[in-house]
Amino acid sequence: MGDPRRILHIDMDAFFASVEVMRNPSLRGKPVVVGGDPEGTRGVVSSASYEARHFGVRSAMPIVQARKLCPQAIFIRGSHGLYGEVSRHIHEILERVAPLVQMASIDEAYIDITGSLKLFGGDEAIARKIKNDIRTETGLPCTVAVAANKLVSKVAANEVKPDGLLIIPLGGEQAYLAPLPLGKLPGMGPKTCQTLEAMGILTAGQLVTASMALLEPVFGHRMATVLRHTAQGFGSDELTLDHTPKSISRETTFPRDLTDWNEIETIAGQLAEHCAHTLREESLETRRVTLKVRYGDFETRTFAHTLAEPTTIDAHIIAAVRELIPKAKERRTRVRLIGVNLSSLSWNQHQMSLFTREKDEKWERVMKQVDTMRGKHGFDALRLARGAKPDKNKRGSGK
Ligand SMILES: [Mg+2]
Repeated sequence: MGDPRRILHIDMDAFFASVEVMRNPSLRGKPVVVGGDPEGTRGVVSSASYEARHFGVRSAMPIVQARKLCPQAIFIRGSHGLYGEVSRHIHEILERVAPLVQMASIDEAYIDITGSLKLFGGDEAIARKIKNDIRTETGLPCTVAVAANKLVSKVAANEVKPDGLLIIPLGGEQAYLAPLPLGKLPGMGPKTCQTLEAMGILTAGQLVTASMALLEPVFGHRMATVLRHTAQGFGSDELTLDHTPKSISRETTFPRDLTDWNEIETIAGQLAEHCAHTLREESLETRRVTLKVRYGDFETRTFAHTLAEPTTIDAHIIAAVRELIPKAKERRTRVRLIGVNLSSLSWNQHQMSLFTREKDEKWERVMKQVDTMRGKHGFDALRLARGAKPDKNKRGSGK
């Protein structure tokens, strides 16, 4: 452990919806929902204004459900190029304060402001400057919190959204978290919370004072320690600078060369699913799907497809792979290896959390939503991946 650090977390408030309001001020004060397809019936909510959240609309919720909860909302498909531009502008504003900026998603960042405290007059002055500069230069509201590490600054920002500012003084982390319900802590998914609640542990403070003899038999030593440390407000203060991978790929060499393209397509679908899973774990989305084929004579070819919209969804990726199959099988020879590669990666619009332990539960939640959507629209990715006959469903795959 080095010297204590000051980590600032910034989270734009209802980012995509706020950008839409900013460029069309007549939307101000109204429920605005960004996400979905051009017809506005499929897809999930990417962002909802606070007015829409008032009706229960949330990110990653199917658009159809959002329409039921808030039919009077203004539904906007979204303009992703613009959000990326605004995000880059925000990144620039942050870099003026300190060089160590970790963009955690398109609309969230951590900044190590330790080295800038003297120059700008302290953590609160920096927090105010950032909020001001962003408001002045982009017209957008944000929430900023400063603490000793990423974990506490993130929790604190969530607590004071929207348009909030909170400084947790050094050494005050544990006391700040103590009254918070467990669900507010990163990594505490619904199952973990239920288990702890059944043990009579409802808050971070109660988790800190719970005896290890109580926790260990249920969670094991390692997990019990992690839970305890989280509740105590221990967290990483190391920023990861630009760790966005360039591409995600999976490939497989067959034990014997294959000639049956139904079988090859099934395996390509499964590789695509693996890639899509990694994509979501990394909080990324893709616009370019490439199929790689090595034939029995060792000639290797790649076939690429650019999607009309970035996606994280298996079925879109599988549909793109499937479009490439006819080209791949024009060469009438045995196949030795196939691979799927996702590139043109960017931060995913559903803004999933960075916290590793939270990822799985969040991922399950998102996939549940996706499955509901698929169920409603006869859009069955598992069936696609297992290589059923092609149907007309080619969503997400532009020309
Ligand atoms: Mg946000």
